Amino acid sequence: MFNQLNNITDFVHQLSHRIHNLLAPPGATCLTCGTRAALSPTYPGICTRCAQQIPWIRSIRCLRCGRAIGCPDCSRPHMANRSFICNRSAVQYNALMKEWIGMYKFRGHERYAPLLTSLLIQAFQAMSEELSLVAENETQASVVYSATSALPPVDASIHPPSPRASTYARVQPLDAHASAAVRTNPQAANRDPKSLLQNPKPRWRPDAVTYVPVSNERLAERGFNQAERLATGLAAACRLPVVDLLQRRINTTKQSFKTRSERIETMKEAFSISPSVMDTLRYLYIDKAGSNSVRAHSCPLQLLLIDDIYTTGSTLDACGRVILNATVSSDIPVEIYTLTLARS
Ligand SMILES: [Zn+2]
Ligand SMILES: [Zn+2]
Repeated sequence: MFNQLNNITDFVHQLSHRIHNLLAPPGATCLTCGTRAALSPTYPGICTRCAQQIPWIRSIRCLRCGRAIGCPDCSRPHMANRSFICNRSAVQYNALMKEWIGMYKFRGHERYAPLLTSLLIQAFQAMSEELSLVAENETQASVVYSATSALPPVDASIHPPSPRASTYARVQPLDAHASAAVRTNPQAANRDPKSLLQNPKPRWRPDAVTYVPVSNERLAERGFNQAERLATGLAAACRLPVVDLLQRRINTTKQSFKTRSERIETMKEAFSISPSVMDTLRYLYIDKAGSNSVRAHSCPLQLLLIDDIYTTGSTLDACGRVILNATVSSDIPVEIYTLTLARS
């Protein structure tokens, strides 16, 4: 009698499961909107509708900080001597991106890691493409990129990751970054993005990737450093070395009660170079200079500094400054480039 009851319960359970599957639309549950739908073949875990809502920075108006809109920040006098060459960001920090990044960073939803890393990888590919073209046409012009959702899947096993489809437009030189209006160049815009695949040229690649550290207090609270996770994910996909360069001495997130100049002063003291890391940098530099012995002294070590959000750029600037100060005193020429997931 008891066995029969169990069998009936199992049967009812299986039947209801089958009915549910028949009634539910095909696909899987989207990580970000929670609906059951066909998942994006490109971005891990999300539906195609959510993928279409990613606010890519499609064209850059400020070549210094990678902003898509007019940028008063970079024209301020104290910003002129920033420690990094340029910043690029994958997406605009809108409400949707705030939610996605918050789910990962503050709520610890690890399933967001592959998604957010895939956005960063796309931005890195575009940055690499852009800087390769800048090196090619370094005479006067730089290049602006546009992101697109019609992209090949991000596959960490591919090296280098497939470049995304892009259109190109020439913009004003880097010096005129502050209010540079994007001007399209018909010839460049008509260029077949696949031509880069057909004529593979050496792409810009940093010599190492590093990241903005969090304080021990923050690390204990969150259990991980989101910038470090993003950096290691990117580095693994692009087979770049990761260097644990910096330490955070002061937690600078709760500074709202301070004046602007006090905040800048605090930021100057917030970071330091990790002990013994200079040996790693020297090794990387000797390795690079060795392979370019003729140009050894004109071949700075190029470091890519990763963070999740670029707001004023002061955190990245402070990190870059600490690296430059340490490397100058060790006679290692270094150039800093920065890449973030979002630009606010
Ligand atoms: Zn969705
Ligand atoms: Zn700017």
